[in-house]
Amino acid sequence: MSGGAMTPEVPTPAAGELVVLSGVNKHFGELHVLRDIDLTVGRGEVVVVVGPSGGGKSTLCRAINRLETVDSGEIVIDGRPMPAEGRELAALRADVGMVFQSFNLFAHRTVLQNVTLGQIKVRRKDRRLAEERARELLERVGVASQVDKYPAQLSGGQQQRVAIARALAMDPKVMLFDEPTSALDPEMINEVLEVMRQLARDGMTMVVVTHEMGFARSAANRVVFMADGRIVEETTPDRFFSNPSSDRAKDFLAKIL
Ligand code: ADP
Ligand code: MG
Repeated sequence: MSGGAMTPEVPTPAAGELVVLSGVNKHFGELHVLRDIDLTVGRGEVVVVVGPSGGGKSTLCRAINRLETVDSGEIVIDGRPMPAEGRELAALRADVGMVFQSFNLFAHRTVLQNVTLGQIKVRRKDRRLAEERARELLERVGVASQVDKYPAQLSGGQQQRVAIARALAMDPKVMLFDEPTSALDPEMINEVLEVMRQLARDGMTMVVVTHEMGFARSAANRVVFMADGRIVEETTPDRFFSNPSSDRAKDFLAKIL
């Protein structure tokens, strides 16, 4: 071949793409919970996923982190397809931080241990360095004074901030939040959202499932509306809240706003 533009054999992923799902399907028995999901999350982008309960939002998050396998399609994190198992999976999974609705801290470990454990076991970090990093992160999420306490001694908001610090300690490339404030008493919701807002401002790539529409409006680059296992609509927060295009989204917004 001579002359003309060079066409690479394997297209290099656009530098901006960090998480790419293509044609992802997932069933639980007869139930088709993820239907032909195509979703791209750019580096530094904050994507907020909203939609009615049972729509597949949690399954989507769990699939990205490979806590669930999928039936078909591909999930690529930073240019690498999710490996099926083994050490490689553990490493790639550590690139994807996850914060759940229920705080999921290790109950019999102190706050400090909760934030150092993964660094030592998965990232093979020296204990002293892991503790240094843990203290720095606990400072950043505002719970530095609680390092020696056990999760049960903390408020829900504090526990969730520790959970965020624990995920960050793995130096993830992307953070997934699955309704991180849904189990919190109202007065604690903001302290968690504020930590998340700061993270977004610092350039973290984030996928956030939430019913906090104020957060979606102010922190999202993009809103993804999911219902019945499909991405029904994907647009800017402005457009989504002022002029959603699908009836499904209009109906959803009418119920929650
Ligand atoms: P959302 O987070 O949007 O509420 P989910 O992803 O949790 O939705 O659930 C999507 C659908 O899949 C629901 O109908 C739910 O009952 C079902 N589901 C979720 N997890 C499982 C599971 N482990 N086994 C069987 N069905 C499940
Ligand atoms: Mg859910």
